[in-house]
Amino acid sequence: MSEVEMSVEKHVFEADVARLLHLMVHSVYSDKNIFLRELISNAADACEKLRYEAIVAPELLANDPAPRITLTLDEEKARLIVEDNGIGMSRDELVESLGTIARSGTRAFMERLEAAQGKEGAQLIGQFGVGFYSAFMVADNVDVVSRRAGSDKAWHWASDGKGSYTVSAVELAGAPARGTRITLHLMDDAKTYTSRWTVERIVKDQSGHVPVPISIVEKPGDEPAQVADGTALWTKQKSEISKEDYADFYRSVAGQYDEPAVTVHFRAEGRHEYTALAFVPGSKPFDLFDPDRKGRMKLYVKRVFITDEAELLPRYLRFVRGLIDTADLPLNVSREMIQESPLLASIRKGLTSRVLTSIEKLAESEPETFAKVWEDFGSVIKEGIYEDFERRGQLIALSRFRTTASDDKPRALGDYVKDMKDGQTAIYYLAGDNLAQLKASPQLEGFRARGIEVLLLTDPVDSFWVTSAPDFEGKPFKSITQGAADLAGIAKQEADGTTSAETNQTVAEFVTFAKAALGDAVSDVRTSERLTESAVCLVAPEHGPDRQLEKMLQGAGRIDSAAKPILEINPGHALITAIAACPAEDGAFREDAVKLLLDQARVLDGDKPEDPRAFAERLSRVFTRALKS
Ligand code: ADP
Ligand code: MG
Repeated sequence: MSEVEMSVEKHVFEADVARLLHLMVHSVYSDKNIFLRELISNAADACEKLRYEAIVAPELLANDPAPRITLTLDEEKARLIVEDNGIGMSRDELVESLGTIARSGTRAFMERLEAAQGKEGAQLIGQFGVGFYSAFMVADNVDVVSRRAGSDKAWHWASDGKGSYTVSAVELAGAPARGTRITLHLMDDAKTYTSRWTVERIVKDQSGHVPVPISIVEKPGDEPAQVADGTALWTKQKSEISKEDYADFYRSVAGQYDEPAVTVHFRAEGRHEYTALAFVPGSKPFDLFDPDRKGRMKLYVKRVFITDEAELLPRYLRFVRGLIDTADLPLNVSREMIQESPLLASIRKGLTSRVLTSIEKLAESEPETFAKVWEDFGSVIKEGIYEDFERRGQLIALSRFRTTASDDKPRALGDYVKDMKDGQTAIYYLAGDNLAQLKASPQLEGFRARGIEVLLLTDPVDSFWVTSAPDFEGKPFKSITQGAADLAGIAKQEADGTTSAETNQTVAEFVTFAKAALGDAVSDVRTSERLTESAVCLVAPEHGPDRQLEKMLQGAGRIDSAAKPILEINPGHALITAIAACPAEDGAFREDAVKLLLDQARVLDGDKPEDPRAFAERLSRVFTRALKS
């Protein structure tokens, strides 16, 4: 550093940063190489920001217009220096960017990181974009000297990653003319990052396609040798790009470490012209459901990065990563202009179609890869069923569901409809949040007995789209926990014993008694077509939300109280016939029994007895009586 360091300010890292650094230093992440990708990605961003600012202020480029990133290896002093001639940072920007984490979801991220190990930890670091701090995985001291483009001051930030950092002004002579120089003082076990062979290989693997040329200086004083030329991959012909090239680019643009599941690369010509290169990731980003999470498609104008905040895809495709490059917008386009531009609407439409058809093709050609994509992103894609009216049919057809016929391999509705039973007019579903519990639901029994397939919907979004989608191929969706079951017209697979007229009469009387005993707690009591094994179940009235949707709306505070359910009883069940046969003078016992039946139905639904104490008392009375007799 410069000898004449002026006053040195000491700062303490924000608590989140300190915790993060501690994790970085003390956890053993197997893939430390990623620090280099993170620093190069920041350097490339800085060059792109400068290119963008220089559109209105070309003097910022001074006499050095070509962007570059230089890696200097210094084996003797065990240092690796990453330097760019990008936008640089002012004093305040240094403090702001390298002392805090201005991101929502930081807490959740760190919890994941604390639990993660090895490779997964490294992946999380990349995805969350706390890239700079990853330098402390390999360095015990980091110096950053930066000079913002157009400024006549340069600043030095230094830290050992142990809770605090310093910032001081430095002489211009000791700083880059513009941009940022990051010096890593490598730890003993990280000396390999001064090896030309190692560093070149990592750069080519991880960062070979960043749109800024990268050079390596093998030892201080040597001439730089270019290792990546900075040509934008998407401008090349598809035939010139290998699968590996695409995968490398995907990793650098998406911050992922895997292979893309789907690659979409095309040029749109005609009224609106643009190039699109987009990827469906091969695995699920950890913050997919973070409400603040925006799409991560970048917008370029003539190879200049403009923004990653333009909504280039609908929300339900927010997991897609990549970019659009167009010559049809001015370089100094504003946020408002982008949002209102007819080009944007055209891009959204064209890109959405291409992404969806690519996923459809994948379902045909590589069912296993598609199954993984669906597993990772299906619950997000399904949001489109109620958000994108125009594509609703297409999205429903693309969707896959676990069903009573196949709970390991999700099924398409086209197949469901093909296998419908004679006399079946609706697509039946059961929604809840736990697959095992759904499979054990008494409401399913009558459907099973008739061999009718029922969709088992466990994503929160399911309860919403099923009520907004009127039908599939003319077949309405029907919740099996709501309204009448309408199963009488469909034959059971095994004949069951018919009940005598006498029994029917007693059961009818019992139903009347139960209605009176339960009063306001239910809206009706009736005999059931859907039960074959269990004694009772609850269903929702015909109109309004089904039981699961109602619970979700209540949970979200959207409705105050649930509609009163209907208690259905199984007239063929031994318990029901036995209680029904109890003499009328045994009124108190019958009332206890009926109320216990209602609580049993609640428990089967995953709820609690309404009044646990009254429940326990009733149960004790009934037990006592049973044991005495
Ligand atoms: P991210 O890149 O996701 O914002 P990082 O931790 O990698 O997170 O970087 C934090 C911030 O530090 C960047 O957003 C940027 O403002 C600043 N920064 C890091 N490296 C550089 C650089 N070489 N030039 C200019 N700014 C940089
Ligand atoms: Mg970064």
